Amino acid sequence: MLTVDDALTRILNCIAVLAVEPVPTIEALGRILAEDVVAATNIPPFANSSMDGYAVRAADVVRAASDSPVKLRVVGTALAGKVADTVVGQAEAMRIMTGAPLPPGADAVIPVEDTSNQWFTDGSLAQPDQVTVYCSVQPGDYVRPAGEDMRAGQLVLRAGTTLRPQDIGVLVSLGQTPIMVYRQPRVAIISTGDELVDIADPLGPGQIRNSNSYVLASLVSSLGAIPIQLPVARDTLADVRRCFQTALDHDPDLIVSSAGVSVGTHDMVRAVIEEMGVLAIWRINLRPGKPLVFGRVGDVPFFGLPGNPVSAMVTFDIFVRPALRKQMGGDPYNVPTITAVLGEDMRSDRRRTYARVTLTRRDDAAGVDQNGEQRNASHREYYQEWIAHPTGTQSSGALLSMVLADGLLIIPEGVTMAHAGERFTVRLLRDIWML
Ligand code: AMP
Ligand code: MG
Repeated sequence: MLTVDDALTRILNCIAVLAVEPVPTIEALGRILAEDVVAATNIPPFANSSMDGYAVRAADVVRAASDSPVKLRVVGTALAGKVADTVVGQAEAMRIMTGAPLPPGADAVIPVEDTSNQWFTDGSLAQPDQVTVYCSVQPGDYVRPAGEDMRAGQLVLRAGTTLRPQDIGVLVSLGQTPIMVYRQPRVAIISTGDELVDIADPLGPGQIRNSNSYVLASLVSSLGAIPIQLPVARDTLADVRRCFQTALDHDPDLIVSSAGVSVGTHDMVRAVIEEMGVLAIWRINLRPGKPLVFGRVGDVPFFGLPGNPVSAMVTFDIFVRPALRKQMGGDPYNVPTITAVLGEDMRSDRRRTYARVTLTRRDDAAGVDQNGEQRNASHREYYQEWIAHPTGTQSSGALLSMVLADGLLIIPEGVTMAHAGERFTVRLLRDIWML
C-alpha cells in the first residue's frame, strides 16, 4: 500500500496549474495572486503629519521645554486633502491635521497636546494666532515621510499569495485594478449509493441523507473553488457511468465522488473509472480513508473518496485540498498545523492515523516567571501549549465527531500506541482564533 506522502507526491504530479485571469481588485478576496506586485509610487505619496498639531521648523524649538517655552506665530492651517501654499518661516508654525501634507518650510510636527493650545475646536479655524511650545522636536518628528509605507519599486505582494483584506487594501492604495489571479477550479461532485436521499425528501426504510455532497461542496467553496453538485448516481454500472458522463459535460477541472470505492458487491466506481479513464491509485496506508481512488476521467483528474462521511472529509483535507491549492497557483503543502501534547493514550494500528481531537490550552512551566509569579493574564497566550484530547468515537461514520474536532492529530506509520504526554502534529480544522 502507498504511504500518504508518496500518494500525495504522485497525485500532485498529475495536477496542472490552471490559467490566470484578470479580476477587479475589489472582487479578489480569497483569490490567489498570479503576478508579483511592485509599488509604482510611494505610499504615502507625500510627507504628512501623523498627529494633530503644529508644523514647525525643528530648529526654532530646539530649546523649548516646560520651563522655557517658545512662542511661534501661527500662519494658517494645513488640512488633510489640501496642499498648503503658505511657507512656514522662521519662528512660525502652521496648524496641521493628521494626514495633511507637511507645508513647505516645516520639517517637524509638535502634537497639539505639547502646546499651550490643548485641542482644536471642532470645525472652527478661528484659533489663537500664537502658540506656545513646551517641548523640543527633532527634524522628522511626527512626520510620515513619503514612501514610509511602500517605496516606489518595492515588491509588495508575491505571486501565490491568497489575498486577504489587507492585501486588497494595499492593491487599492496603489490604484491597481484589475489584478491577475488564478482561475477558480470548477469541481464536479458526485455521490453514489442506493441509500441516499436529498435533504428535503422523505426518508424511507434503510435510507440516509446525502450529506457528503453538501460537505464536499462546502469544502470546495471554502477553498475558493466552484462546486458543481450532481444528482446521486444509483449503484448500477449504467447509472454511475451516466453520472460521470454528466460530470464531464460540465467541463470541470476536477471530479470528486464519494462512496462506491470499497470492495462491496455494489461498489461500481473503480470499474467505471477503468472504462472511462485511468485508475492510478487505489488504497493508501491511512486511517480513516484507506480505499481512496485517484485517477482520471477522460482528461479530468479524479478523486474517488470513501463514502463514510469522516473518511470523505479527512481524505479531502489530505489529498483534494492540496490538489486544488496547486490548481489555483498556491503552495499545496502549506497546511495550518500546530504541535500538541496528547492528553491520553491512544491505540493505533501502524497505519498513518488522523485522529479527531479537541484542543485546549494550558499554561506550561514557562508561564511562571523567574520570581515564581504567574505572568500577567494578558500575556498568557505566549506561554501556553496545546493539549489534544480524542473526540470520543473515532468511527468514520460519526460526522458529529468532525463537528467536535478542532483538528486531526497525526499518528505516524508503525505506531501501535500513542502515549499521553507525547507531542504530535495536529492539522487544524478551525482557524486558531476560533479555538
Ligand atoms: P460505501 O463506500 O458506498 O460502502 O459507503 C460507506 C458508508 O458511507 C456507508 O455507510 C454509506 O451509507 C455512507 N455514505 C455513502 N455515501 C454517503 C453520502 N453521500 N452521504 C452520507 N453518507 C454516505
Ligand atoms: Mg455505497
